Amino acid sequence: MAQKRDYYEVLGVDKNADDATIKKAYRQLAKKYHPDANPGDKEAEEKFKEAGEAYAVLSDPKKRAAYDQYGHAAFDPNSAAGQASGFGGFDFGGMDFTDIFSDLFGSFGGFGGGGGRSYYSSSGFGGGYSNAPQKGQSLRAAIRITFEEAITGCEKELEINYKDTCKSCGGSGAKAGTSPVTCERCKGRGKITVTQNSPFFGQMQTVTTCPDCQGKGKVIKEKCPDCRGTGYITTKKRFKVNVPAGIDNGQAVRLAGAGEPGINGGPRGDLLVEITVSPHPIFKRQGTSIFSTVPVSFAKMALGGPLRIKTVDGMVEYQIKPGTATDTKVRLRGKGVPMLNNKNVRGDHYVTLVVHVPENLNREQKKALTAYAKACGENPEEP
Ligand SMILES: [Zn+2]
Ligand SMILES: [Zn+2]
Repeated sequence: MAQKRDYYEVLGVDKNADDATIKKAYRQLAKKYHPDANPGDKEAEEKFKEAGEAYAVLSDPKKRAAYDQYGHAAFDPNSAAGQASGFGGFDFGGMDFTDIFSDLFGSFGGFGGGGGRSYYSSSGFGGGYSNAPQKGQSLRAAIRITFEEAITGCEKELEINYKDTCKSCGGSGAKAGTSPVTCERCKGRGKITVTQNSPFFGQMQTVTTCPDCQGKGKVIKEKCPDCRGTGYITTKKRFKVNVPAGIDNGQAVRLAGAGEPGINGGPRGDLLVEITVSPHPIFKRQGTSIFSTVPVSFAKMALGGPLRIKTVDGMVEYQIKPGTATDTKVRLRGKGVPMLNNKNVRGDHYVTLVVHVPENLNREQKKALTAYAKACGENPEEP
């Protein structure tokens, strides 16, 4: 295992930093390196995990004290320090740092996830911990294209439910001329403390989300009639999807800004359009290679001659050598699939030539074949 960096150094905070500073530092790093903001970026993923691990320790007073005393050894089950700290074997590997992240920012339902067939709507906004601008959630959609369209690339139209800030109220949800007022019940805090009497435990206090304002801290007295107080209007909007040549089944095209609106002035999320490529009756694809099987008459395989072969570029002529065996594989260079990032570079088309045995011969064909068999020294029945 590589040398671990100092947790304070990871978060870029002073050894005496208070909880708020640590939280703020982690929040910034987690945002910057969140896997959904850096898809496929291994280094960012490592940084995200590293920051999560550092935060998990430094945000917990007991773990932090153990770390301050013993360093990384505090969490090593094989060291005396690990045994002394009581945290030896604390499993960082099994931790899901996305959860910590969600705790800080609220729900991030639109991120990650598997490939849904149709777009799903997000589960709402964050838990109100932050007024910082946040990028809107990503949405998913799916379209189906033909085998040929995947080779040449194509432009498709997609209609989606496009959520946008209500223009009438500017997103406040309040009727024109009015504005949301501070919630009286929670005094704008968004949370209320409920005191309950329990026969066994005595008085118990629980903090819950304020039911009057749903945690927003503000209530709308008169709702905007256009958006019914939600602050958002959803309309059908058509988008052009430029599907690049060479795309493969299951890959996605990102439409920047076509996702959910941002929060607190943040940028809009993206729309990920997953591409399904319909299978082709003749061609099979593997990466940039195309495969097909072509039946050829025995006579042509034996005598040789020109053969017309279907490719994605149309028919091409291929010269069969005399005495070609069945199952011979032929490579048609550059007749395969273009590379996704460079459509001028194309794979090859592999053709398997298979002898076709006719099932119903007419009189003339039978006569000719019989003569052929005789010439080969066989003794077939006369037709
Ligand atoms: Zn409105
Ligand atoms: Zn309230």
